[in-house]
Amino acid sequence: MNPIYAGISTSVFETMSRLAREHEAVNLGQGFPDDPGPLDVRQKAAEAVVEGWNQYPPMMGIPELRQSIARHYKRFHALDLNWESEVMVTSGATEALAASLLALIEPGDEVVLFQPMYDAYLPLVRRAGGVPRFVTLKPPHWGLDKAQLKAAFGPKTRVVLLNHPLNPSGSVFSRADLDLLARYIVQHDCILVCDEVWEHVLFYNVEYSPTLSVPELRRKTVKIGSAGKIFSLTGWKVGFVCAAPEILRVVAKAHQFLTFTTPPNLQAAVAYGLDKAEDYFTTMRAGFEAAQDRFADGLTKLGFDVIPSQATYFLNVDLAKGPFAGMDDASFSTHLVEKAKVASIPVSAFYAENAVTSVVRFCFAKRFETLDEALRRIKSIC
Ligand code: PMP
Ligand code: GLN
Repeated sequence: MNPIYAGISTSVFETMSRLAREHEAVNLGQGFPDDPGPLDVRQKAAEAVVEGWNQYPPMMGIPELRQSIARHYKRFHALDLNWESEVMVTSGATEALAASLLALIEPGDEVVLFQPMYDAYLPLVRRAGGVPRFVTLKPPHWGLDKAQLKAAFGPKTRVVLLNHPLNPSGSVFSRADLDLLARYIVQHDCILVCDEVWEHVLFYNVEYSPTLSVPELRRKTVKIGSAGKIFSLTGWKVGFVCAAPEILRVVAKAHQFLTFTTPPNLQAAVAYGLDKAEDYFTTMRAGFEAAQDRFADGLTKLGFDVIPSQATYFLNVDLAKGPFAGMDDASFSTHLVEKAKVASIPVSAFYAENAVTSVVRFCFAKRFETLDEALRRIKSIC
């Protein structure tokens, strides 16, 4: 048995969703929307299942989707991606991450990771033989710190793994942060693997720079996206990778022996969806923004110190101030699911060392009734 996997516990998302079921709780832990997702996209998938091709699609993804991905980023970010040599479809962002890390890390290579980090990152980096070097981000701004970057990079740094926008903090790195990071990446000649699954779930007109649009990073970045987040269809597991041809070629070699391919009917539906008019994206954001406002307002009225979110389905509360001051995040999350029957995620689960232990994440991507019910329940134990 491999000690890396034998030694880690079940993912915090699975654990909290199980507790939510056991306690019949409102589940604001694992991030998934109440909304069933756009009907036309789901209908396209259904049509493709009934009338379309249901055998192995090409290993790199169906051409319609790869072309649609390239068109999408031309439209939104003015990027020129060659769909044949720079775009590949994967089974979710998770597979894209695994393929990228397996392909780009050689045992002993150092990998810069930013805490809080998505739970899959560290086990994948370790299993690929990477040696983690952590940069720790702090609330409420979660920005980059030059001294920490300087300390994390060294002659053995090979890969930098960034999540932008960042889950669980709901923050977006500024262009100045990305320029600073690019300087280190160029200086140490490493590759940036950037998980941008939350790129469309942005609020309050926050300025968002995709990493491929930073000139120094264009040929040094593996950009990862996910239809699960773009269309609020988290169970679909259709992801993709965009990277310069010489990088993509190697990542494709890992992908071919992980999943080889991704359901063709879902690919066809995503190809259609990515061409949707601007108003789909603005309406989606506005809906989640209104949900965030409602939930943040309710929590603030209960005395919680809410850290507003610029992106993702999540907002955080800092327990250091407010009705549960002094309690750590894990104890609070357990107390909340058992006593108030509301599930949340303790943010310390996203750290490997020196964890921030006062922050708790809530998913607000829910109907108003769901959020109001959660607030009523939280109030009952305040
Ligand atoms: N990366 C991040 C930062 C995420 O938040 C998620 C899921 N929410 C994923 C990757 C996984 O994406 P997928 O479901 O497409 O594998
Ligand atoms: N990305 C989701 C979240 O952050 C969870 C995904 C999962 O359950 N693995 O809540």
